[in-house]
Amino acid sequence: MRLRVFNTYSRALEEFHPLDSAGREVKMYTCGPTVYSHAHIGNLRAYIFEDLLQRHLELRNYKVRRVMNITDVDDKTIQGSRSAGIPLAEFTLPFKQAFFEDLDTLRIKRADFFPEATDPGQIAAMIEMIQTLIARDLAYQADDKSVYFRINKFPAYGQLAHFDLSELRSTGRVKSDEYDKEHVGDFALWKAWDEEDGPVRWESPWGPGRPGWHIECSAMATQLLGEQLDIHCGGVDNIFPHHEAEIAQTEGCTSKKFVRSWMHCAHLMVDGQKMSKSLGNFYTLRDVLARGYTGRELRYALMRVHYRAPINFTWEGMEESREALRRIDDWVARLREKAGEENVQRPTPNVQRPTEEGSGFEDALDDDLNISGALGVLFETIRETNRALDLGKLDANEANSWLQWWERIDRVLGVSGEENAVPAEIEALGEARTQARLAKDWRKSDELRDELAARGWEVRDTKDGQKITRRAGV
Ligand code: AMP
Ligand code: ZN
Repeated sequence: MRLRVFNTYSRALEEFHPLDSAGREVKMYTCGPTVYSHAHIGNLRAYIFEDLLQRHLELRNYKVRRVMNITDVDDKTIQGSRSAGIPLAEFTLPFKQAFFEDLDTLRIKRADFFPEATDPGQIAAMIEMIQTLIARDLAYQADDKSVYFRINKFPAYGQLAHFDLSELRSTGRVKSDEYDKEHVGDFALWKAWDEEDGPVRWESPWGPGRPGWHIECSAMATQLLGEQLDIHCGGVDNIFPHHEAEIAQTEGCTSKKFVRSWMHCAHLMVDGQKMSKSLGNFYTLRDVLARGYTGRELRYALMRVHYRAPINFTWEGMEESREALRRIDDWVARLREKAGEENVQRPTPNVQRPTEEGSGFEDALDDDLNISGALGVLFETIRETNRALDLGKLDANEANSWLQWWERIDRVLGVSGEENAVPAEIEALGEARTQARLAKDWRKSDELRDELAARGWEVRDTKDGQKITRRAGV
C-alpha cells in the first residue's frame, strides 16, 4: 500500500509523493516549543505524533530532513524575563535544556536542525522576507511603527483554515494596540519596540523592534529547507492564525506552493478541555515521572490513539499503557528465551519471514498513521505466538523471525527495553561529582549538586554511593 496522509489544506486523504524527483528525500517542518516554561504533555503529544510520522517515513525508506524551531522571543518569554529580572537569553536557557531532556526521556528522535528565533542570521532572514513583502505591496508599516501583512492582497488567505474573511470582519475583536491596522485580520510581521520590551530589540529598516511569531517559522523553514516543503506539522491550534499566516508570508515572497501536506494532531484534553498553560489544567513530563511513570509509558500513552482523535488524559490511561508495555516485554522475553534455547542445539541461519499479520502493521501506518490498526496487529500477533509457545508449536526459527519483525516495527514505536531513567548527561554530571568527592573537592561537588538541582535532579549520598533521582514537582 502507498502511504496516504490527511491533508488539512484539502481536508482529504491524499497519496504521499515527495517533491524530490528521486522520490526519497522528505522535507519536514514542525513547530517547536515557546521556551517560557516547561512543555506540558499536550505539547509533547504533538512532538510524539511528529516522531511517529518521521520514524514511519524512515521505515518506508524515506530520508527525512527535519527542522523544529525554538521560539525564544515573543510576548510570553519577554514577560517571563522581565518578571524574573534577568536577560531574555538567561531566562529561556533552562527551558531549552529541559525541552531537550524531555525529547530524550520520551525517545523522540532529534530533528536535523533546531533553529532559534533570536539567532542573528534568522533575524536577518526575517527582515529580508518582510522587505520583500513590502516591495510586493503585501505588507505595510502602520502609524504605530509596526509592520503588518495585508491580508486583503492575498486572496488565498483563509484557505487552510477554511475560514471566510468576511466572518473575521464581523466577529473579529479589535485589540486596542492594533488600531492602526487596515484590516482587523492583518497580523504583525515586525513589532515596533515599546517600553515593555526593555532591552529586547533588533534594528530594522522600520526602526527597533522584534519579529512576529509567524514570520519566525516562515524564515526558519525556508532558510533550512528551501522554498517548498513536503510536510508541515503542528497541533490543530496552530492552523489559524499561525499556519495560515506562514502560507501567506512564504507564498507572498516566493509565489510557489509552500507546503504539500499540512498535518495537524488533535489536542490532549483534560476533562473535555484542551490541556493548556492558560487554563492551568496541565501536567509536565516531570509531574508524570514524579508519579512513578516512565518516559516510555508516557510515550506509549500519547502515541496509542490516532493523531487526529483527541486524547483524554487520565491516570487510568497511564496504567493501561504500563500494562500494554508489560505484555510486550514479556512476549519479547519469551521469544528471546525460545530463540536462544534452541539455537544452542540447532543453529538456524534461514530466518523465515513472519506471516501475513507481520506486514499488516506497516500497512496500517501507511493508512494515515492508523496506530490503532497497527497496535491491533501487534497484540493479535502476541496472542497467537504466545498460544503457539504454550502449545510448543513455535520453534527457534520462528521465534527468531518474530523477534526480527519486532525489532523492525519497534524502530517506529520506540518502546523496547526497560527505562534508563537517568539521561546520559545527568549520569556524566553525577560521575564528575563522585570524582570531585574522591578528590575531596567539596566546592566542586557542591557546584555539581547545584547544577543537577537546576536541571531537576536530586543527589543523595547513601552508604551504597551516590543516588540520583528526579526532584518531584520540578
Ligand atoms: P507552543 O509551545 O504553545 O508553541 O506549542 C508547541 C506545540 O504543541 C504546537 O504544535 C501546538 O499546536 C501543540 N499543542 C499545544 N497544546 C496542545 C495540546 N493540548 N494537545 C496537543 N498539542 C498541543
Ligand atoms: Zn511555527
